[in-house]
Order: sequence, then structure tokens, then C-alpha cells
Amino acid sequence: MNATADAALVWFRRDLRAFDHAALSRALQAYTQVYCVFVFDSEILDALEDRNDRRVEFIWLTIKELDTTLRQMGGGLIVRHGRASAELPRLARDLGVRAVFANRDYEPQAIRRDATVAEDLAQSGIEFNLHKDQVIFERDEIMSGSNRPYSVYTAYKNAWLKRLTDDDLQVHPIAELASRLAPPPESKMPSLQELGFISSDLASLEIKPGMSGARDAWEKFAPRLANYENTRDFPALDGTSHLGVHLRFGTLSIRSLARHVYYAAGKGAQVWLSELIWREFFQMILYHHPRVTQNAFRTEFDAIVWDEREDLFQAWCDGRTGYPIVDAAMRQLNQTGFMHNRLRMIAASFLVKDLHIHWLKGERYFARKLLDYDLAANNGNWQWAASTGCDAQPYFRIFNPLTQSERFDPDGVFIKRFVPELAGLETRDIHAPWNLLPIEQQACGVLLGRDYPAPIVDHEAARAKTLALFKAVRADAA
Ligand SMILES: Cc1cc2nc3c(=O)[nH]c(=O)nc-3n(C[C@H](O)[C@H](O)[C@H](O)COP(=O)(O)OP(=O)(O)OC[C@H]3O[C@@H](n4cnc5c(N)ncnc54)[C@H](O)[C@@H]3O)c2cc1C
Repeated sequence: MNATADAALVWFRRDLRAFDHAALSRALQAYTQVYCVFVFDSEILDALEDRNDRRVEFIWLTIKELDTTLRQMGGGLIVRHGRASAELPRLARDLGVRAVFANRDYEPQAIRRDATVAEDLAQSGIEFNLHKDQVIFERDEIMSGSNRPYSVYTAYKNAWLKRLTDDDLQVHPIAELASRLAPPPESKMPSLQELGFISSDLASLEIKPGMSGARDAWEKFAPRLANYENTRDFPALDGTSHLGVHLRFGTLSIRSLARHVYYAAGKGAQVWLSELIWREFFQMILYHHPRVTQNAFRTEFDAIVWDEREDLFQAWCDGRTGYPIVDAAMRQLNQTGFMHNRLRMIAASFLVKDLHIHWLKGERYFARKLLDYDLAANNGNWQWAASTGCDAQPYFRIFNPLTQSERFDPDGVFIKRFVPELAGLETRDIHAPWNLLPIEQQACGVLLGRDYPAPIVDHEAARAKTLALFKAVRADAA
């Protein structure tokens, strides 16, 4: 390959788009020849449990679309498969570039990988430039009065909003500089099979990959934004954006979303912006406290002795707990790779506070199944639900799956969609089928224990045990 003194390489990671892209824009401004690369990182892929993981197919299709788009602009993607920490410096040397540009990632493993890459590149005299792209404010940009990271969301949010100016929402231009994109010297894209995966059911799901999928999801959600605060808690209404996976893989720009909602009138937009700020809050927490990936944020709760009931854990995973709202939630996750936020809170609370199973086991299960899985958000929210996190739900606030069900799926519409064996029940019975007399069960064709499980735990007894578990370690810690 030709060595070029004025060439740079842009390494795409969780920023899979060809517009408003910090690293690409900076590279195009500084260099006349800019190559683009994506590496299917075997260190990440080999650790995945499922060979039909929907996310791999999502990324694969997104990369294909990104390559096509970049080619239409005069460039294209070099696509590699291997250990990114070795592939990337090798490619940079082969291309003879003077600098590599990428967008910053705040996960501990990514930070370590980037440090290795930076060191390797430095040995060849190649610069490694990292830029802020996936958040509006990163790392130390929002700090408390005493210059410490916030651990209370509302204070963080207020400081975030106070700091925001038009400059933070500016677009990083790409199209105007596209003549500097260099066509890739190779055009081979590994197939899914070559990556060690097979097709999933992604094509049958509503969530579509790529920048085009992100655009479609946004266009569908935008007219519903104004009503977000009224609909967002009801799974049957589907009032949320489904943009999580696109935010995860950067098929849209956080700046354009934040700009839109910041200037949009109305409560719906304000509430939705708060959700985007939650996302940044947890990214900031993970960056400053990487230990949370394995430990409770509130360390005294690491002493809780959780139950190791594999049978109960499996029933939860499979959606066979006998609590219809929990089962509907878990089946939605298993069948679609998505779970509504209200249901994530209910299902997580149930695992920890009704089944007394370690929050990390649930966190790992969600990590395996969620299309929008994001370490910072998943960990932060699991610790919130488990009461072990920063600014978490107090340990004595324990979701009652029955009242949650009656409140947030009052007509049982969502339950019937994902637990069809209960479709014959009257609305008043659907939340607690265990209250039906045997004769009533017969009449509606659902025998508990045969057609649908009896509850695997008694909520009131489980609740008392949770309070005791938490109180015990609090007393020990005192
Ligand atoms: C136990 C549990 C696990 C979770 N795991 C994840 C995860 O792995 N990845 C993830 O992105 N979100 C996670 N969330 C947060 C939230 O449930 C999802 O972001 C949301 O359901 C995604 O759907 P949506 O895109 O339609 O969200 P919308 O309601 O439209 O929100 C827009 C965006 O804001 C962000 N957001 C919303 N709520 C939160 C929140 N509480 N914390 C952080 N960011 C938020 C997301 O990026 C989301 O896409 C979890 C929540 C719980 C309770």
C-alpha cells in the first residue's frame, strides 16, 4: 500500500454514521486523504454466548450500509476481523498514515484497549486522537461545586442543563469535506459466517439497523414526543422512542437529538431530554467508578448473601414465574431483544427483591439479550433497581408486581400479547391468576400448574426477607 504523508485513518467503533461525526470531521479538516476502518473485534465477539446474537447482525448490516454511504461520498470502509488492538496499529502502519482518529469510549475495557493502541501507534510515530462524540458532556465536564463527580442525578441534571450552550450542540461537518475521503485499498467484508455467527431473527423485528433504521425510528417517534410523559410508562402504548440501540451504536447523532428536544416546546420533550441526561449520568458514573462493573456502588451491600437458586433464576429468564407482568416482560426481551423501561424496573426488582438473586446475574442476562445493551446504562439501572447503586431506589421500596401490573397494564393488553395462554382470562383476573378458584380456572381454560405456572414465590414473604437481608448488612456496616 502507498505511504502518504498527509493521510489519516478514522477508526469507527460505536459511532456508525457518516454525518455529524467528531473524529471523522476533525480528520477531514486536518488531512487531505482520510481512510476509514471498522474492526470486528474478536475480543468482543468471541466472548458472546449466542452465535445468533442479534447485535452482531445489526452491526454487520449497519457496517454494510455505512460502507455504501461512504462510497457514495467518494470513500468507503476498510473492514477487518481480528483483535482490534493489534489490527488497528498494523493497518495504520500499512497505510502509512500520520494519525488515527476515533471517538472516545468510556467503558473500562475500551479505555484499556485504547491505551494499548495509543502506545503501539506512538512507537511508530503515529498520533492517536480521541474526541468526544457519543455524549454532550463527558468525564469531568460536569462536576460538583467541590470538583467531585456527582452521585445524585437531579443535581447532575441541573448542572448539565445550566452548562449547555449552542456550541455543545453544533454539528461536526462531513459532507463539505467529503472530497478528502480516500477510497479503501481493499473491499472485502467478512460474512457473518466468517465472523463465527449465523443470521438471527432481526429481519422480523421492528428495530431496523443502520442510519436509515435510526432515521425511521426517529420519524416514527417525533410526532409522539409531545405526549411522551403521559405514555412512556405504559408498555401497551409503546410511547417510547426505541432509539436505544441507535444511541448505542451511534447510527444517529446525540447532538441532533438533544438540539431537537432542547428547542422543542412542551413537557414531553423536557422529560425525554431528562432520559438522555440519565444516559450521560451513568456513563459519567462508570467512567469515574469502573469498579461498579463487579461491585455495588454502595459497598456495604456487597456483603448481602444472595440466594443461589438456579431453578428460580431460570424461571425468571424464561418468563415462567407465575407473575404475568414479569413473565410478559421477560418474554418480550427474549422474543424481541427489547424490554420496555417500566418492565425493566419491574423484572429487575423481582429478580433481586422477590427471588433474592444477585443483581449481577440479572445484569448479565440483560447484557446477553438486549439489543440496546449498554454497560453504563444497564449496570446503573440494575444497581438502581437493586438499591445498591448511587441515587438508587431505597432498599425498603420494593415493587409489588401485582400493583405495578394493575397500574401500568390496567387492561392486561400487554400481558395478553406476550403471555397468550392467559388471553381467555377476564381483565380483573389477568394480573393475579392464582386467585382463581379451580372451577374458575377450568371455565377459562387455564389450569395453574398445567397451562401457566403457579407463583414461584410469595411476594409478601419475599419482601420481608429482602428487608431482613438489607438490614443485616446495614447493621454490620454500622
Ligand atoms: C434494569 C434496567 C436495565 C437497563 N438497561 C439498559 C441498557 O442496557 N441500555 C440502555 O440504553 N438503557 C437501559 N435501561 C434504561 C431504559 O430502560 C432504556 O434506555 C429504554 O427502555 C430504551 O428504550 P427507548 O429507546 O424506547 O427509550 P426512551 O424512553 O425513548 O429514552 C430515550 C433514550 O434515553 C436513554 N435512557 C432512557 N432511560 C434511561 C435510563 N433510565 N438510563 C439510562 N439511559 C436512559 C436511552 O438511551 C434511550 O434510548 C435499563 C433500565 C433498567 C431499569
